[in-house]
This record gives sequence, C-alpha cells and structure tokens, in this order.
Amino acid sequence: MTILVTGGAGFIGGNFVLDWLAQSDEPVVNLDKLTYAGNLQTLASLCDDPRHRFVQGDIGDRACVDALLAAHRPRAVVNFAAESHVDRSIHGPGEFIQTNVVGTFQLLEAVRGYWQALPDTEKAAFRFLHVSTDEVYGTLTENDSPFAETNRYEPNSPYSASKAASDHLVRAWHHTYGLPVLTTNCSNNYGPYHFPEKLIPLVIRNALAGQPLPIYGDGRQVRDWLYVGDHCGAIRRVLEAGRPGETYNVGGWNEKPNLEVVETICAILDELQPRADGQRYASQIAFVTDRPGHDRRYAIDARKLERELGWKPQETFDSGIRKTIAWYLANQEWVRNVESGHYRDWVAKQYGTP
Ligand code: NAD
Repeated sequence: MTILVTGGAGFIGGNFVLDWLAQSDEPVVNLDKLTYAGNLQTLASLCDDPRHRFVQGDIGDRACVDALLAAHRPRAVVNFAAESHVDRSIHGPGEFIQTNVVGTFQLLEAVRGYWQALPDTEKAAFRFLHVSTDEVYGTLTENDSPFAETNRYEPNSPYSASKAASDHLVRAWHHTYGLPVLTTNCSNNYGPYHFPEKLIPLVIRNALAGQPLPIYGDGRQVRDWLYVGDHCGAIRRVLEAGRPGETYNVGGWNEKPNLEVVETICAILDELQPRADGQRYASQIAFVTDRPGHDRRYAIDARKLERELGWKPQETFDSGIRKTIAWYLANQEWVRNVESGHYRDWVAKQYGTP
C-alpha cells in the first residue's frame, strides 16, 4: 500500500510525512512543486529512506499526476499543496487561483480517472483527503459561536476565497462522480519547520535577531492555535475512519489574541534565552498598519471530530508553544538556510536537481 501526499515539502505536509513514516512503514510518494514555501531540508532525515519517494511537480500538471497514480497505485491521496499565505494573496492573487482552484481541479480529475478504473474492492477503500482552512467561514465577532461544519462559507481574502472554491470542487466531485472525498478545515497551525513569514516563527526569529516584532493593528485579532503534531494526528484519524463526503473541523481549543501570543513567546524566550543586554523581548514589539480585510476572530468547534472519530488535541497552547520555541532555538540553522536560500543548494547536493 502507498499514499500520495501533495505539498509534502511544506510546513504541515512536511510534518505529516515525518509523522506518517514515524508511525508506519506504508510508503509515501510526495509530489511538491517546491515553491518558495517548499523545503526538502525538512525531510532531510528521509533522504536515504526507501519509504519516501519525492517528486518535484505541479498538482495542476495532469500528465505528471496521471503518471504518478499509474506508477504507484496509491490507496489514498492527501492534498496539502496550496499557496497558503494571506498577505501574498493580497499582493498577487493569480498564483492562488492557479494552484488552489485550477490545480485542485486538475488533481481531482486525475484522481477521478484513476479511481474509476480501480477494481471494486480498491475503489471502495480509496480516499481523497483535502486539507483546508477555517478561513473559508469568514470572520466571527466576540459573541459568535465557533465555526461548525454547518457554517456558511463567507471567505474574505483571495486566499480564503481560493480555498473555498477548492472545497466546493472537492464536494462536487463527491456528489457528482461519487469520488470518496474527505475535507478537513483547520485553524492556525504552529510548530517545527514553519516558514518564517508566518506570525509565530517570524516573532521567534525577529526576537532572537534583535528586530521589531510586528503586530498588525491593535493585536486583538483572535486565532485558534493548533499544534501541527495534533493536526497530523487528526488527518490520520480522518483518513482512517472519516465518512466519505463529510467535512471535519480541526481546532486546538486555544483561542488567543495575536498580542497575547507574541507576549507569551517573549516571556518564554526571556526564560530560555535572555537578551544579553538584560532587556525584555517584549520591548521589541512594534504595532504596524493593519492588513486590509483582516478577519477579527477565528475559532473552531471541533466537537464533530471528537464525537464521531474520538480525536482530541493533545497539546495546550502553553505546552505546544514551549515545544515550538525549543525546536527553533535548537534549529537556528534551518531558519538561516530557509532565509538565505542555501537550502536550495543543499537540495541540489542531496537529491541532485529534483
Ligand atoms: P505551505 O505554504 O507551508 O506549503 C505548501 C506546499 O505546497 C509547499 O511545499 C509548496 O511547494 C507546495 N505547492 C504549492 N503549489 C503547488 C503546486 N501547484 N503543486 C504542488 N505543490 C505545490 O502551507 P502549509 O501551511 O503547510 O499548509 C498546507 C495546507 O493546509 C494548505 O492547503 C493550507 O491552505 C492548509 N492550511 C494551513 C494552515 C496553517 O496554519 N498553516 C491553516 C489552515 C489550513
């Protein structure tokens, strides 16, 4: 048996591949375009592991996906591949439409053709799991209930609109063609191997570099933080036992305003690696102009996943953020390589030109 993972050189996909192969011997074929966000150094420990087969390619390249499906005959496809950064989507939405909408469509079509030709028993067992975001539901006020799977889709950014479109395509491929799909909508992830453009790794990086810690607007935007290891466990569980055609919200039950997240990171760094000049890291906090259309609050109601599949997050925000900061302190070279682009040289050296 084999699974095909797309976007497995990114933050969550990379963590998922590592976690998958730490827990089972089922091989992973990893299709990733290696955009700026893809980093094979995350998977360095799998370099000589025959259970991991990396292929550089685009989910929108039908011939490439067809060939991979025919060659490896996976029992499941887990789709992480996406353009994922809201700020980038504001400045350049085209790539988001191309990968998240057109790419997902091409991937679905390739998978549909493959799945339809499978023998009946393999066909019944096959799954296509699509990883999506809570941002498709729009924004909440302070008094609203957290997002449930029944909430209306009300995306507000080019990123969330493109992910909403992809979710609709996945849904339609189930209702129209019977493809056994599963969709997960998760909250903000954090943890090891996170590209330092996102809030938590950016703040850790800037704090250690003595640079300003930028906070959008008043810093009171609330996000529900999910430790990436918990997310990987949820995906594994949904793949194993989720009902085809269903969507499952995945959250950490950790609602925090951004300012509190940054202050917590500063306090932990004060403890683990105090500044040489005796100042507090929080003195580096700098408020910057808010992002246009910035959603105020996201929160996930993950009770369906707990009720139906018995999944619950293991980490609290305090335990998860401590693990994350400890990882970044121990892996400064990973961050420096990502920033400098050295990791691309490293990839060429380790894997040849992929
Ligand atoms: P990421 O940006 O770190 O990684 C995305 C990966 O996809 C990269 O390795 C990139 O090279 C690859 N990729 C991009 N376009 C591709 C294409 N056309 N073909 C093949 N590969 C391509 O993203 P992430 O944070 O790991 O997110 C993974 C998934 O989870 C995304 O679908 C995202 O929308 C969703 N998600 C992420 C979060 C979060 O907090 N990070 C929250 C909710 C949902």
